[in-house]
Amino acid sequence: MSGLKLSVLMGVLSLGVFTGLTGCDSSSSTRRGLPGVATDGVSGEKVELPFEDLYASPDPEHLTLAIKYVEYVDAAGNPVLTLDEAKRLTEAMNRLYSVCNMHFRAEVYETVQPGNFGLDYNTSQRSDLTSIRAQFDSPDHLLVVHTGSWSSAQMGSANAWTTLPGSTPSGAVVEADVAGMGNLVAHELGHYLNLLHVSSSTNMMNPVIYSNSTYISPSQCSEMRATARAYRSGALRAS
Ligand SMILES: [Zn+2]
Repeated sequence: MSGLKLSVLMGVLSLGVFTGLTGCDSSSSTRRGLPGVATDGVSGEKVELPFEDLYASPDPEHLTLAIKYVEYVDAAGNPVLTLDEAKRLTEAMNRLYSVCNMHFRAEVYETVQPGNFGLDYNTSQRSDLTSIRAQFDSPDHLLVVHTGSWSSAQMGSANAWTTLPGSTPSGAVVEADVAGMGNLVAHELGHYLNLLHVSSSTNMMNPVIYSNSTYISPSQCSEMRATARAYRSGALRAS
């Protein structure tokens, strides 16, 4: 509840991330094999309102936050997450956030050739995160960018970095290895909404994300709801 931090990047350690995952699909061959998404890798494809929103609510207290997904496309033309995978990711996060009477609506799914923006498919420098956000940040959405794998030692052990409220440009940047992992991206959106780390492996804001790192406390819900209204009003939707 304390003051918002400025210019702070929050990381997620990768230890343990790859054990016991559910719904995390990091194999590119699996991605390519999904039916009905053959055109997802077209460079620059932009799909508005791609998903049916199963979590919309008439409750006036319910909060709906719009997300913009930006998917890097590799040299073979494959996006990090296909449209279908981004839909499943959104649904996984919404199952967690339902306890807070809020949810995310994927309004934009955009595939990009990073080279067209002067960016590398495999992010190698921490400073590149700011460049990535600057290209795609929008006041009307929470930004989630899925890049290629981070192989460089300079990137450290984190899989994802998200700016806290007050720092611009804003956005969650997530590497391909964990791009579809609902618990982890939900954690990043927690940072987006001003949550800091807590030391409890079953909490969504534990620094290391496991398959059961899903709990969101009432006070964490309150903080995120207040932050959404105060700092992310451009991404709020009426229902
Ligand atoms: Zn974190």
